[in-house]
Amino acid sequence: MLDALSEKFERILKKLRGQGVLTEDNIAEALKEVRLALLEADVNFKVVKDFLDRVREKAVGQEVLKSLTPGHQVVKVVWDELRGMMGGERSGISLASRPPTIIMMVGLQGAGKTTTSGKLARLFKGQGKRVLLVAADPRRPAAGDQLASLGRDLGIDVHRFDQIDASRADVVRICQRGVERGQEQGYDLIVLDTGGRLHVDDELMAELVAVKQAVNPHEVLLVADAMTGQDAVNMAGQFDQQVGLTGVILTKVEGDARGGAVLSIRAVTGKPIKFLGMGEKLDALEPFHPDRMASRILG
Ligand code: GDP
Repeated sequence: MLDALSEKFERILKKLRGQGVLTEDNIAEALKEVRLALLEADVNFKVVKDFLDRVREKAVGQEVLKSLTPGHQVVKVVWDELRGMMGGERSGISLASRPPTIIMMVGLQGAGKTTTSGKLARLFKGQGKRVLLVAADPRRPAAGDQLASLGRDLGIDVHRFDQIDASRADVVRICQRGVERGQEQGYDLIVLDTGGRLHVDDELMAELVAVKQAVNPHEVLLVADAMTGQDAVNMAGQFDQQVGLTGVILTKVEGDARGGAVLSIRAVTGKPIKFLGMGEKLDALEPFHPDRMASRILG
């Protein structure tokens, strides 16, 4: 995960840490390398620029240069700003004060929405919560089958449209019925696995807006493939503008050597990353902590 970026940062910062005395030129030189490393990692151009402006401003201050360990101070500044770029504090799932908490999962086909719905359900089940998964993609019965199979493996109930009334296979209705069932039967959490498409289109967005209005979810989480870099960032912007997101879950992060999406999404869209998908297995979901990620990158 983010190995290529991490290796470069380690090298750049090692040089800085090793220097007893630092001049503005030393710092400028190091920041040039940092800039290149971030751009090569596919971080959004504007995000890189803002980051460097802030680091430069703090790092060339006399306090840093005159300190006993200027190199370490600069590294600390870089760490702080990386953490800030990814949102600063951890942002978790906000649970409803009166259950059930309704979580709506959105995203393109293949991003990992169904798998991630299962992962989240498993996580909350492990915390003693009763979870209902709702298969809300009537256009793709295979997705419903996949969720049903995940539910069986995990011992989690799955609500499917074909169990109710296949002729009314409309997504808003399915989600409403799922939520009603969850409320009536005392579930703590309802996870709606909505339909995806291969590309963002108006019909999909309109459908998601209608579902959101109908069920008033506490969380609307975009599931996006980290390997797609800036495409994931742009997509998050589009989903946020058109549907309104509360957060993002990036998947396939374990195979993402570059890290452009992980580093840019928060700064570009203002929406926090809540979890990282780190593999195909159902326990491969990690809470996202900006501070830990910053430490991992800096080595
Ligand atoms: P959906 O179409 O968005 O519902 O996507 P799926 O949940 O069916 O996932 C598509 C593929 O991505 C499947 O093969 C999943 O096993 C895989 N996948 C999902 N999350 C991850 C992840 O974090 N890492 C890896 N390597 N694969 C993942």
